[in-house]
Amino acid sequence: MKSSKWHIDKIFGCAASLFILVSCSEQDLANIKLAAHLKKYDQAHQIILDRNYRSNNPISREEWEELLKVDASDEFTEIELGLLQENQLMIIEANKQAAIKKSAIDLNPLRADPAALAEFCVSIPKGGMLHVHPYGLFTREVVMDILTEYNPPIDPEYFISTVKNQGQVLYDHEIEALRTLPTATKFLDLTDADQSLFLDFFLLPVDPVSHDFTRFDAIFAFVIWMVEDDFLDAKMEKLYLDFLNRASGLGISYIEFTNGFPPEVASIEKLDAWSEKFLDETGVVVRWNLGQLRFLPGEMNATMMRAWNDLLLEHPSTSIVGTDLYAIERGNPALEKAQQAYGFISGYNSEHDEYPIEMTMHAGEMGDPRNVRDALIMGVSRVGHGVLLKDDLITLEYARNKQIGIEMNINSNHQLSVHDKNAEPHPFLRFLRLGIPVSLSTDNDGIFDTNISKECIAAVSTTDVSYAELQQMSFNSISTSFANAKYKDILTNRLRQSFTLFEQEYLSR
Ligand SMILES: [Zn+2]
Repeated sequence: MKSSKWHIDKIFGCAASLFILVSCSEQDLANIKLAAHLKKYDQAHQIILDRNYRSNNPISREEWEELLKVDASDEFTEIELGLLQENQLMIIEANKQAAIKKSAIDLNPLRADPAALAEFCVSIPKGGMLHVHPYGLFTREVVMDILTEYNPPIDPEYFISTVKNQGQVLYDHEIEALRTLPTATKFLDLTDADQSLFLDFFLLPVDPVSHDFTRFDAIFAFVIWMVEDDFLDAKMEKLYLDFLNRASGLGISYIEFTNGFPPEVASIEKLDAWSEKFLDETGVVVRWNLGQLRFLPGEMNATMMRAWNDLLLEHPSTSIVGTDLYAIERGNPALEKAQQAYGFISGYNSEHDEYPIEMTMHAGEMGDPRNVRDALIMGVSRVGHGVLLKDDLITLEYARNKQIGIEMNINSNHQLSVHDKNAEPHPFLRFLRLGIPVSLSTDNDGIFDTNISKECIAAVSTTDVSYAELQQMSFNSISTSFANAKYKDILTNRLRQSFTLFEQEYLSR
């Protein structure tokens, strides 16, 4: 963990004033109190390591909240919190103006011309995507291909009961529609209309425009049924290649996938071989984050990650780079579900120069708003979504000081009721202007019918983001990636060249 850089000069200035009994300004006091809060976070980080790496004695929520409490004299008054917020607004405004000045291209004309904006967003260089779930990549075409090739029998009641048993949701009219399909009929024996009706269940309905996570989650009952059998790898390879070819066409050169894999040498061999093959065939550098399902007991994920850590030390991988905690965040808070695995990895990494696993975590998408704070204290270097960070001024400062990457997925947030675009602009831009290295990704290209260009369109059309800020996010997607230093250099240089060419071409039109 890097040390806190917050206004050390001001704090010393005020401390000196205190010594000679000169009163501090309210701003100085606010800064001193902020430093006291951030110090608590750093102390809590050490305790997480002590309790989950050096011993096996997880911290209770009660104990945790107590640990993070500052002395009464360090608690913020309303006025001081207002000052902190004002400070952030000043930084945001200054960075916004600096970015406008630096921008080689004015995006405003594009905001009034959707076709021109779409073309711009296809062509602008993108860098990487750090938040991609393979099981969310299935497009209608790929599902059609797989079902045609393997021609499985379809039993509507299987899906209805699986979804129900897993606490997922299909709308009533969807259940009714599913029940109109004949039972135990092979896919190719269905009428065209019935095939099309069945394919709808692999994508999120467009009406209504946003859904609860449980409706989104129901799609995986269909995806898992389709792919998890003896032909899993062949089906997934088809999926990866389809996706990577499309991403490459949109200017993507680097992808991190998050998925679960058993801790076995065979997994390492498979993922390394895939990564090599995908680079050869699509030009995209592929890296993998080992997925931990957050609804499982924390102990179970910790056991798996300890096994992965040992295995990767013995059999280094060229493509496995990190871990991520995913699936439904509501009801599965970071502290209770992640401290054992993350505390262990963080502890291991703090004692070794060379380590095999970096850490990111889904946090601040929904559920307990303290999840981002707790993920950061556990030592992650990135978070997925992080939207709820918008209401936590102190953790925002912590994220800024530590330069925590945030993997933003705007269309996912709109479709899963995480952010209401009609109520306020998406907070990604506020975070970026505060100096936090935000990057754009898609979460689940297929399910949300999005891609990295559509994320660019969403960013430009719903906020006043400038060209220099889009550029910054492309570079952030490489600098906050888990690629090694050599690849980061190569990809950053490539991105720089792509921007030079892009601007020459765009401005000469
Ligand atoms: Zn995700």
